[in-house]
Amino acid sequence: MAENLTNCIRCKRLFKKTISDKCPSCAAREQDQFSEVFRLLQASRANNGIHITTLSREVGMSESVLEEYYIEGKLGTASEFLNFTCKKCTAEYSGKEGHAAYCSNCRASVSSEAGVTIRSREAVTEGQKEQNRMDLLSKLRSSAPPSSNAESAGFRRAKD
Ligand SMILES: [Zn+2]
Ligand SMILES: [Zn+2]
Repeated sequence: MAENLTNCIRCKRLFKKTISDKCPSCAAREQDQFSEVFRLLQASRANNGIHITTLSREVGMSESVLEEYYIEGKLGTASEFLNFTCKKCTAEYSGKEGHAAYCSNCRASVSSEAGVTIRSREAVTEGQKEQNRMDLLSKLRSSAPPSSNAESAGFRRAKD
């Protein structure tokens, strides 16, 4: 039977499948980087944490991998020292608040705006229905020749 080869999720090279989804060299490097990530997070406690971009640069690990660690809970208690940038107001927010792309302030406003959006969309739909009805009526009216023109045309033809 052929060897069970698989692609490393990090470097995409083929390797003989183990319980890990990373090849041995990536797994070893990541283990070192992970220790460094953990050390830097703990060290950032005094500075209210470290931003994910800074940490990514310091350790040479992509932000998406760091996010993955955070989301999977691999950072344990150190996760609260990982800071993110709010995608809405660009404020830095702490991993303590959880990672959801927005800071807690924006999360509150986004959810209330979402409520407004849903309500206004309903209003638009109602307005659109009314508009469609009016369009249909005006189409029906214009497809029939206006009565006054028909009369004058008929009158002219009768006269000819
Ligand atoms: Zn690899
Ligand atoms: Zn924000």
